[in-house]
Amino acid sequence: MDIHSIGVIGAGQMGNGIAHVMAVAGYDVVMNDVSEDALLAAVARIDKNIGRQVSKGTLSADDKAAAMARISTSLELAELGQTDLVIEAATERETVKQQIFDNLLPHLKPNTILTSNTSSISITRLASRTDRPEKFMGFHFMNPVPVMQLVELIRGIATDQDTYQSCLAVVQKLGKTAASAEDFPAFIVNRILMPMINEAVYTLYEGVGNVTSIDQAMKLGTNHPMGPLELADFIGLDTCLAIMNVLHDGLADTKYRPCPLLTKYVEAGWLGRKTKRGFYDYRGDAPIPTR
Ligand code: NAD
Repeated sequence: MDIHSIGVIGAGQMGNGIAHVMAVAGYDVVMNDVSEDALLAAVARIDKNIGRQVSKGTLSADDKAAAMARISTSLELAELGQTDLVIEAATERETVKQQIFDNLLPHLKPNTILTSNTSSISITRLASRTDRPEKFMGFHFMNPVPVMQLVELIRGIATDQDTYQSCLAVVQKLGKTAASAEDFPAFIVNRILMPMINEAVYTLYEGVGNVTSIDQAMKLGTNHPMGPLELADFIGLDTCLAIMNVLHDGLADTKYRPCPLLTKYVEAGWLGRKTKRGFYDYRGDAPIPTR
């Protein structure tokens, strides 16, 4: 199936990045959120980030104007009904995602491909609640979307080959690379990454190191571009905790138990960069460790 238009649900850090790369690649994009503020902030963020590409000389001012003109926003899910491909990128909670699909389906044309950017939730289970499990799959971008090369494509048990090929063609048109993953909790990237982040939080919790020494050790000792705690703040601590819970519940292995300190940060509402506090405090000029 040829894809020309994209619906993006959730205009947070992932949703705005997805809308950005899709519009630059020439797709018409309708972006939806429950929050008008989130939609306004997303459009402003996209404008700023595409502007940066113009300053660097990788896009022209005309390209930017054309990309921005391809993006529209709506608080109504019904407005996404005629798009060819929907990418759901709302909060990482299964009930939220299921509610979105329940509300969207009555408005969706029959051949629209439905996908989720979920980091960890079962694609097969999300698909089974829709009217089109064969046209449903995982379309998992990395953060920040405009910068990161990889997209994980996850087939549910019922996903058909045409759906996979159509999504693969979109990834290729974006100039990105797809990795195909089977539908098991947290797929490939987060199955490996999140236990490492969770272990870094345990290392902090047990006093083996402080925030600075843990991040420095992993940056300089293993050549990671960001320390695990800095990366956790970047991803969002609520998202990290949600993924650990999916691993713990889905694989029923105690090695995936979320660190109580991670839970405590989330309970405090210290979710990382997006709330200006997490393992670092971002309210001043430079981030300061909170422990
Ligand atoms: P976020 O908190 O930045 O944004 C979530 C957005 O969803 C918010 O704007 C919120 O208002 C909106 N939302 C909530 N309920 C909604 C509803 N019913 N309808 C429409 N919009 C709704 O979260 P994020 O980091 O952008 O994550 C979004 C998804 O992407 C999650 O599934 C997450 O697991 C996945 N993901 C995140 C990362 C990451 O690094 N943060 C990376 C890859 C994938």
